[in-house]
Amino acid sequence: MSQSSAAPLVPAVELPAVPLLQLGTWVVFYGLLAMLAIFFVSADQGAISLPAGNAVHEWVHDARHLLGYPCH
Ligand SMILES: [Zn+2]
Repeated sequence: MSQSSAAPLVPAVELPAVPLLQLGTWVVFYGLLAMLAIFFVSADQGAISLPAGNAVHEWVHDARHLLGYPCH
């Protein structure tokens, strides 16, 4: 087996260009979804509640404790 100075046969990989300006709409959309989820987990306790009652609080109760938000 002889050593050659040729480069190993690695296929050329071309990195795709990410169009950041075209992602703006999706960033805003998922940012709003994330803020809504964070609101439901962190602040929705019945006193401040989008739907009336404690149903959302009960649904996200474990996530609230997991993330360290004050609860009870
Ligand atoms: Zn709790």
